[in-house]
Amino acid sequence: MTHDVSIPAQMRQLIDLLAQHNHAYYVMDQPTIEDSEYDQLFQQLKTLEAQYPEYLQADTPTDKVGGKALPKFENVTHVVPMLSLGNVFHQDDLFEFDRKVKERLPHQQVQYDVELKFDGLAISLWYEHGVLIRAVTRGDGETGELITENVKTIRNLPKVLCSTHQPVPELLEVRGEVLMPKAGFEKLNAQNAAKGEKLFANPRNAAAGSLRQLDPAIARSRPLAFYAYGIAQCQPHHEQSTMSASLAWLTQFGFAIGEQHFICDSIEEVQQRYDEINQLRAQLKVEIDGVVIKVDDLKQQQQLGFLSREPRWATAYKFPAVAALTTIENIDWQVGRTGTLTPVARLNPVAVGGVIVSNVTLHNIGEIHRLDVRIGDTVSVYRSGDVIPKVEKVWPEFRPQTALAVHLPEQCPVCDSPVVMPEGEALARCSGGLYCAAQRIEAIRHFVSRKALDIEGLGDRWVESLLHLDLLNNVADIYSLHQHREQLLSIEKMGEKSVQNLFDAIENSKKTTLAAFIYALGIRGVGETTARMLAQTFQTLDALQAADLEALKKTPDVGAITAEWIVDFFQAPHNLEVLQRLLAAGIHWDAPIAPTRQPLNGESWVITGTLSQMGRDQATQMLQALGARVSGSISSKTKCLVAGEKAGSKLEKAEKLGVSVMNETEFLALMAEYGQNL
Ligand code: NAD
Repeated sequence: MTHDVSIPAQMRQLIDLLAQHNHAYYVMDQPTIEDSEYDQLFQQLKTLEAQYPEYLQADTPTDKVGGKALPKFENVTHVVPMLSLGNVFHQDDLFEFDRKVKERLPHQQVQYDVELKFDGLAISLWYEHGVLIRAVTRGDGETGELITENVKTIRNLPKVLCSTHQPVPELLEVRGEVLMPKAGFEKLNAQNAAKGEKLFANPRNAAAGSLRQLDPAIARSRPLAFYAYGIAQCQPHHEQSTMSASLAWLTQFGFAIGEQHFICDSIEEVQQRYDEINQLRAQLKVEIDGVVIKVDDLKQQQQLGFLSREPRWATAYKFPAVAALTTIENIDWQVGRTGTLTPVARLNPVAVGGVIVSNVTLHNIGEIHRLDVRIGDTVSVYRSGDVIPKVEKVWPEFRPQTALAVHLPEQCPVCDSPVVMPEGEALARCSGGLYCAAQRIEAIRHFVSRKALDIEGLGDRWVESLLHLDLLNNVADIYSLHQHREQLLSIEKMGEKSVQNLFDAIENSKKTTLAAFIYALGIRGVGETTARMLAQTFQTLDALQAADLEALKKTPDVGAITAEWIVDFFQAPHNLEVLQRLLAAGIHWDAPIAPTRQPLNGESWVITGTLSQMGRDQATQMLQALGARVSGSISSKTKCLVAGEKAGSKLEKAEKLGVSVMNETEFLALMAEYGQNL
């Protein structure tokens, strides 16, 4: 957040923001930010309050619980206040929690009860002589809403207590969480979507929204469940001495408790269980947002007591944030192989989705305008699972006066050539072509790659060293490297043998195909398939170079934009110079098979299993040269399946669908008939 303003003003800003989001979450059941973002704002306020206690504001939420009870329900004062829990987010904080517990319990053995942290709505259930008398929401911890009739509709919740194993207490107050299990939540949202009704953001809000309905029939129609996690009062006492035993005692009356819970002898074991539960999370029936760690011994719990809004004997250990707030330190422009300029935000490093994120792409200038993001801004970075992190939201309320607006550079940050952004396009590009070092490295990498000229020995390390020695300014220089044998030998770790291997690989690359050569040039929009189509259609490089827009557009796979890029490429003088040098170096190819000689034109083929005499790539190329399309899956439209060794499910499917199948020998014989030899 911004530090332009005074500490009390910063506190006020955070308190107002938190109040706004509390209202959306607790009253409207419609949060507009992720819980992890809320937690971070809350934490920022707590840190400021710890540093500057003299500025503590009377209405701070850090010493309060939840939200106000709604007046539409009868309000009930809790006999035993319903508190919240402290939070830890990292292993260090967890160990610090353990240290504080042990400090207050010197010379005592401590065991921890590790439970699932249900992401639902806390309620209190009041039983007299085994009969459910009232159910109340947590509200602000002191006063909650009376929602007995709604709670009675929850199917897995005992309305009357009886047990063959133990007497029913005169008074029992059970605390626990009302949830909507994942399956029910998905069904409810699907039904709502079909009816065009509002969707719930998450199971927690769906559960809260369902419980706080005035009409119990609505709650009844919702798939809610109750999980117990504690006992606030029991008369006469239940005689259990630990948290875990008291939960087991509750199950004897029919209460459900979490699917998993563990007793741990050390804080290291707690960490291990946390990691295990995090792994299992997706498979659980209910949504959880972490684990709760409780000192198991009830006497020790009493000794530890409470601190303001939370017990000292328990803490929540939340799962890694999916969204986190951080600041944008700078925005750099990166130049790609085809000259595309991509803005990359350099962040103040932040943990999100379990990893530290310090860079994130902003895609293009349009996205920068859409987000209205500036250097210095506080932003939310979102990352869930394997998803690439992205800037989800900008917080204008935290914008410092020094924030800098971002403009598209007029010149390429690498080579100073003018940056162009044709009308109607989203991406800006450097116009420097092969003169731009950024494009040069990428152009060389692409040129030598396997599906292009396939110069195996010329890996990234070589390319970088050669660029450094100024021996490789463009792809044509590859074919003059043999003139610099001595300099190459001077490169660290490059012995006689590796230099000779490199020269051999370069020499071998001179015999290629027109399609691979066109692909290797790295023309924008011209991938492998387009290159093949161009080779088949135009037959010679001269014809392709001479082709106008109309002729190019007639080629299968080439649209109007790619056609323009091809024309542009062959009009740039520096590209023509490179082309001439490549051809002069001896790069050559056999004339491609004319389209009229494509006997498998339009057919769909599939290759499966291991081929012993060639790779699948080579088999694919042979088929494609004859006009066939090679697909990854079998369907009734498949013309033929080439089945190598250990062919599995695809072979079975082909047989089932009556698709013809060929083994490798038959395949090679057919290819030879059409002039395709290994
Ligand atoms: P909390 O959710 O961090 O933890 C306390 C609660 O955990 C308890 O009240 C209890 O109901 C629950 N709990 C679940 N399993 C439990 C178990 N096994 N044992 C004991 N308790 C268990 O704190 P909170 O005060 O309920 O809610 C604050 C949280 O709500 C914030 O951390 C934030 O993530 C979320 N929130 C989000 C927004 C938003 O805008 N997204 C706004 C307000 C609050």
